[in-house]
Amino acid sequence: MTDFDVLIVGGGPSGLMLANELGARGVKCLLLDAKASTAFNPQANATQARTMEHYRRLGFAHEIRALGLPGDHPTDIAYFTRLNGYELARLSLPTANEAVEKIKTMKGSWSAAELPHRVSQKFVETVLKKHAQSFANNDIRYAHRLIDFEDQGDCVLARFCALATPDQIESIKVKYLVAGDGPKSSVRHALGISYTGETGVKRSYMGGQMFAVYMRSKDLYQHIPHPRAWMYVTVNPKRRGFLASVDGHEQFAFHSAVSESENPEHWAEKEARQLLLEFMGCAVDFEILSIQTWTAGHSLVAERFQQGRVFLMGDAAHLFTPTGGLGYNTAIEDAVNLGWKLATAIARPELAGLLNTYEVERRPLALRNTNYAREFADSVGLYPVTPAIEDNTPEGQAERERAGVHFNAHVRKEFNIPGVTFGGRYDHSPIIISDGSTAPVDQANTYTPTATPGGRPPHAWLNDGSSLYDHFGRDWTLINLTSGHEIEDAHTLVAKQMGIELKCLKPNALDLPELETLYQAHWVIVRPDQMVAYRHPITAKEGAPEPLALWRQLLAA
Ligand SMILES: Cc1cc2nc3c(=O)[nH]c(=O)nc-3n(C[C@H](O)[C@H](O)[C@H](O)COP(=O)(O)OP(=O)(O)OC[C@H]3O[C@@H](n4cnc5c(N)ncnc54)[C@H](O)[C@@H]3O)c2cc1C
Repeated sequence: MTDFDVLIVGGGPSGLMLANELGARGVKCLLLDAKASTAFNPQANATQARTMEHYRRLGFAHEIRALGLPGDHPTDIAYFTRLNGYELARLSLPTANEAVEKIKTMKGSWSAAELPHRVSQKFVETVLKKHAQSFANNDIRYAHRLIDFEDQGDCVLARFCALATPDQIESIKVKYLVAGDGPKSSVRHALGISYTGETGVKRSYMGGQMFAVYMRSKDLYQHIPHPRAWMYVTVNPKRRGFLASVDGHEQFAFHSAVSESENPEHWAEKEARQLLLEFMGCAVDFEILSIQTWTAGHSLVAERFQQGRVFLMGDAAHLFTPTGGLGYNTAIEDAVNLGWKLATAIARPELAGLLNTYEVERRPLALRNTNYAREFADSVGLYPVTPAIEDNTPEGQAERERAGVHFNAHVRKEFNIPGVTFGGRYDHSPIIISDGSTAPVDQANTYTPTATPGGRPPHAWLNDGSSLYDHFGRDWTLINLTSGHEIEDAHTLVAKQMGIELKCLKPNALDLPELETLYQAHWVIVRPDQMVAYRHPITAKEGAPEPLALWRQLLAA
């Protein structure tokens, strides 16, 4: 028996992110992953802006932004009949270098500390792992497998082994077990929790089996007679698919739709070459790094995210069709939500009731995000393509124009999603205190900054070039927009009594006079996951709740 507080099963993005959240808060944590190390395959390829803001909060967004494509590589998403054929539609997006500068001048929907970053999950995982390992209280073990576990009511007993020594079984007693063990989650199965929702949806693209080839090709770009992009999508009746650049030079992730009459179970190099030929419209020299099949067409959410002392997060809790790039990003936000609550419950067991709000807050978000992904999949995958689209005739030209109109609208719908990334809210959570205001309507492509409790705090840039978020505390933050110190004093005292770390921010210390207008508040409390928990609005007719009562609600005490 070893002495750990939390056992994390799975060292994918959700497990590693949770190890960072817990590691930073001094929780003793063991992470097990059955793989030799972090992902070899590229997997997810879009890190959303809100995820980047969380990486910034943990201090490594700049490391992630430096990974993947070279800083000056375009990140456009473009649609073609075939890659050496006609271009149909394009969304031009900033390079990584431009993104860092551009965000400082953006307003409205993109008023944020970070823009999205196009980078393969395999690279992100290496940074998450490096930082998770930097905490002395974390023990990160790859090539180790959870065998089984038992929730004993006051603790969880688990057994695991190193893959190299399967006979040497180790036992561990922990306060909590968190399963970030992917879509086939053995923990979820052992708990008897099922996914609910839709699966097996058929579309000509993004609904059905997909054949994925991770490849190296030194001359692929030479065969594309169009401006450089990051993601290339094909629209033709024969072979729909997408190709994403992994390193901007020679590594690519090619994902091809497989028709219902095909069976890719035993497909290998010969089929990979044929599929790429059909996708490109010409032969290309390439080396295969790996081959996988996967299934698109899921919108699945687990019935429960918690059972006793065991929690589910990431793909173990929800399974997406990857349109919109929401699976991995939703997984990260699960870990962010659970991290501070677990750390609080471990440090202050009398606040363990907070843990019951994890499912209350995250399950509706999983339903919301899987719905958005499904809408994007319908939009891109149900488009009726006719053979004429490739013809050099007036009819072909008309077909391409029709497709161009559709995909130019689609690409903005799927890839310009500030509303999805910033607009997730916990309005109905018992630990959010409503001020009676109503949040703006949830829309994928528009985000309206608001300090209405339950959502992301409005962002602002300071004169010194820092983000308002850079000044928030690691845990709780009180933004005091009054001229006095009474609010700070009262809340600091109560936070101390409750064993909570509270940082107080005064706007004059931030040189940001417009904060009162932006927040429409006298004072605001922001949670450790950078969500507004309470706002005392400038229009308030009544006094604020008494501080102890307020904190008791915010902490589910
Ligand atoms: C081909 C492909 C393309 C994708 N594209 C996108 C995309 O464009 N955008 C997007 O957002 N998402 C995409 N995804 C999904 C994304 O990769 C997942 O949503 C993400 O990896 C989920 O992270 P996770 O931490 O929940 O689980 P995972 O990354 O699946 O990690 C689970 C880990 O648990 C480990 N494990 C399982 N059982 C045990 C056990 N008993 N003991 C120890 N370890 C165990 C596994 O080894 C694994 O490493 C894609 C996925 C695939 C396969």
